[in-house]
Amino acid sequence: MRKIAVLTSGGDAPGMNAAIRAVVRTAIYYDVEVVGVRRGYLGLMEKDFQRMSLGSVADIIHRGGTILLTARCDEFLSSEGREKAVANLREEGVEGLVVIGGDGTLRGAIELHKLGLPTIAIPGTIDNDIPCTAATIGYDTVINTVVDSIDKIRDTATSHERVFVIEVMGRRSGFIALEAGLAGGAESIVIPEVPFNIDTVVKNIKRGNRRGKKHSIIIVAEGAIDAMEFTKEISEKTGLETRLSILGYIQRGGSPSAKDRLLGSRMGAEAVNLLLRGESKKMLAMDGEMIRNFDIEWAISQSKTIHLDDYRLAGILSI
Ligand code: ADP
Repeated sequence: MRKIAVLTSGGDAPGMNAAIRAVVRTAIYYDVEVVGVRRGYLGLMEKDFQRMSLGSVADIIHRGGTILLTARCDEFLSSEGREKAVANLREEGVEGLVVIGGDGTLRGAIELHKLGLPTIAIPGTIDNDIPCTAATIGYDTVINTVVDSIDKIRDTATSHERVFVIEVMGRRSGFIALEAGLAGGAESIVIPEVPFNIDTVVKNIKRGNRRGKKHSIIIVAEGAIDAMEFTKEISEKTGLETRLSILGYIQRGGSPSAKDRLLGSRMGAEAVNLLLRGESKKMLAMDGEMIRNFDIEWAISQSKTIHLDDYRLAGILSI
């Protein structure tokens, strides 16, 4: 293989740059040329290609976001669109591709493989909702960002003796809410995976209040409930001043944690190794301290659930 391409697609995640850097540098180490595709699958349609050098990935390992930019692309969902994408890559002389992104990006990688383009996928999403890997790139950073925000909000919650509802990202998955909630000492956690009862939340708050707890922090995953409605109800049912804080897009940004930089570096390098070994349709995964790979189609058909033990633990530790 003499020339490969790399792209980031879907939602950006801190650590994607470390993965791009590892792909580019590992390939160049093995005398393979690298093309950077800007704006994900959209860039394949528009031939938005740039030649990558050792220098083009200098000084990016500590930066959030993705230097290759990212986008969503509806044209890629049609078979004509995907054929055009592969034709554009072939015209450029590209013989293999590394894609970095979430579930949709991984599904796209399967389609590119079917069209004969060797493709390796790296799971990059803050949501951690990709099966078969203990972590996705960006997840560790977002957890740390959310815990930092909980700590800050706790200061004002304590001073004003208020209840705070904090909405965090995660689409249909409660990973961020659960792990950041547990690490941040939240009084209650509301996630889509576990049916919740508002009366239990209210009971927890009142119990804490009776023993002199000056504040309560409730973490809510965005996909679980309407946080605005929930905040109003909590306020009415407890009679306590209750505020809602939606963390929003600050969760996506920021310098990647050491863990995400390591994950990006290891997966990026391994993606190139796999391409050079003639592999395709493989997804990188973290298994303990090991980087492994699985067939993408098989991997995404598996289920991934939150650790229910952690949910129970959060309940015990917040009494
Ligand atoms: P993420 O990769 O973060 O989950 P999206 O779900 O938006 O983000 O997917 C990113 C892009 O991947 C989409 O804009 C689309 O071009 C492509 N994609 C998504 N789903 C599929 C699919 N089932 N088949 C082929 N391509 C897909």
